[in-house]
Amino acid sequence: MTTDTRANIRLAQLHLYVDIHLHDRYLAPPLTLVVAALLTNWVPVAWAAGWAVVELLIIANYIRVYRAFKRSNATPRDEPRWARRIAMAHGAHMLAWSSLVFWAWQPGSFPSLVFIMLVHIGLISLTTSMSNAHLRILALDMIFPILALLGPPLLDFSWFNVGLCLLGAGFSALMILVARQINAYSTEALQLRQRNDILIRELESQASRDSLTGLVNRRYFLAEANQQIRAAQASPQALALMIIDLDHFKQVNDQYGHLGGDEVLVAVVDALSGHLRTGDCLGRLGGEEFALLLPETTPAEAIETAERLRQATAALHLDIQGHPVQPTVSIGIALLEKDELSLSDLMHRADLAMYEAKTQGRNRVVCTTPATPTALASAPAMTGAVPAWPGVK
Ligand code: GH3
Ligand code: MG
Ligand code: MG
Repeated sequence: MTTDTRANIRLAQLHLYVDIHLHDRYLAPPLTLVVAALLTNWVPVAWAAGWAVVELLIIANYIRVYRAFKRSNATPRDEPRWARRIAMAHGAHMLAWSSLVFWAWQPGSFPSLVFIMLVHIGLISLTTSMSNAHLRILALDMIFPILALLGPPLLDFSWFNVGLCLLGAGFSALMILVARQINAYSTEALQLRQRNDILIRELESQASRDSLTGLVNRRYFLAEANQQIRAAQASPQALALMIIDLDHFKQVNDQYGHLGGDEVLVAVVDALSGHLRTGDCLGRLGGEEFALLLPETTPAEAIETAERLRQATAALHLDIQGHPVQPTVSIGIALLEKDELSLSDLMHRADLAMYEAKTQGRNRVVCTTPATPTALASAPAMTGAVPAWPGVK
């Protein structure tokens, strides 16, 4: 287990501890009142009431600390600090209950001994079931009730009381073992949950990302584009879609193999990504074809962006296996029309524009209207059959 994983588990254990102990809200105050009432058997009412008030204040304080922890969005690094705060707040509660021994225990009185032992056996059982999530706090929670359980019969020596003390010691040891065992199981469950969360995140990322370029894949892009189109139609706003296709890419593969081609793909995606705004969505549709969705973008801005992307790609001077390669892209733009609801229509128009850019000689930008593809912007005129890939015959 890595240090990070261990720290995450400790934080999850602290959350589990606090979640379980938050039930104290309902249990501890009425129990305090019952015990205070029983206490009046041995001490004046004012003392018992004083004890109850102190204990109720302690309960209010640890509930306050638990809630602050739950609201804090604590990170694994904060865990030791929170564990200390929580241990102190809850330790005061255990100390207050165990202090009953000084009040209620009357050496030589069997009923008071039974009362003390019953209260502390109950406390130790509750601690076993409620504090097992966090071993360090469990240890602190156990110390006071165990001392208060074993102390009185030992101090009031008789062989019968020694027997009671041994029973108490055996019971305490058993409860510690049980708490440790439950802790081992809950830790394993927390580790499994953590591993599951990591796996689910990885699977989600694999299902939505293209492993070569790191861009979102076709499925994710289409889902995102559909959502954006619905949003753009709901509160009318301009939206542009581009299809970007590498020119003569097959020649790179033929010359330098698939690995060489992959290097070019990654370099082009890096160049394109450097010119995007937050909110733009660039995805790999497949092969050497990409789509870019630009929400809240006017026609002029879309053409300007496409031209910047085209120039950024054309400015690349790549070294593939010792050979110079200068990739170029052809870009088709479609602008969302009023009342247009279908993504496939929009993509079809962008596709037509991209093919028009190919027909016009590649390394250029073409923007369409729904009716006819129209070249609105293009690269500097290219005459004749200009090889798009210097170094590739
Ligand atoms: P055009 O300018 O008309 O687009 O020509 P092109 O050669 O780019 O287009 P064509 O469709 O003929 O070839 C695309 C090539 O892209 C063919 C295929 O082997 C290659 N390709 C598709 N996916 C990958 C990939 O993931 N890695 C690499 N290296 N090549 C790929
Ligand atoms: Mg191509
Ligand atoms: Mg293609």
